[in-house]
Amino acid sequence: MNETKTRDLIVQMAKSLFDRGLTFGSSGNISVRIEDGWLMTPTGCSMGNIEPEKISKLDINGNLISGDPPTKESFLHLAMYEKRPQDSAVVHLHSTHSVAVSCLDEINPKNVLPPITAYYVMRIGTLPLIPYFPPGDIKLAKVVREMASEHHAVLLANHGPVVSGRCLRDAVYATEELEETAKLFLLLQGHKTRFLNSSEEAALRK
Ligand code: ZN
Repeated sequence: MNETKTRDLIVQMAKSLFDRGLTFGSSGNISVRIEDGWLMTPTGCSMGNIEPEKISKLDINGNLISGDPPTKESFLHLAMYEKRPQDSAVVHLHSTHSVAVSCLDEINPKNVLPPITAYYVMRIGTLPLIPYFPPGDIKLAKVVREMASEHHAVLLANHGPVVSGRCLRDAVYATEELEETAKLFLLLQGHKTRFLNSSEEAALRK
């Protein structure tokens, strides 16, 4: 896909997430790897109203070469790309249900959500919890990088998910699957629940 079409797709996907309440205010960010670097949503902008020419373009060293300054969370994206050469897009949201789950006490930090549905297992699989760091703390990038080679999706405690994908659509759909599963998980609290059993889960992981 050429750069102009990639810019248009970022605008379209960001607006779709915003319009459905998956992101709000100036939170959330999207990036796509291109031939000579990255395209990234700018800092301080609403995902509902991105102008394609204002999208930040970074070179392969992460330096801004055109557009507005990138999201202050660009380091999260670059940490994922560094360990996931097979992936070309990253989505990070502060989506409500995922954040709610990230705040729960006594969740399993190695895998936050149980196998509720087949689609969750196929699109996300295992979701580790990354400990809390204050906004902009560069130590967060180090921990994300450590997890990224094994996991295309991680959940930042008291903050939100970071999800990569082969392409932007894959990353967005996986982020949505995660958000909906977090919502189901919260709905099921206090109800006797049958999750997928280990053999059902193993069959899907193949
Ligand atoms: Zn964030």
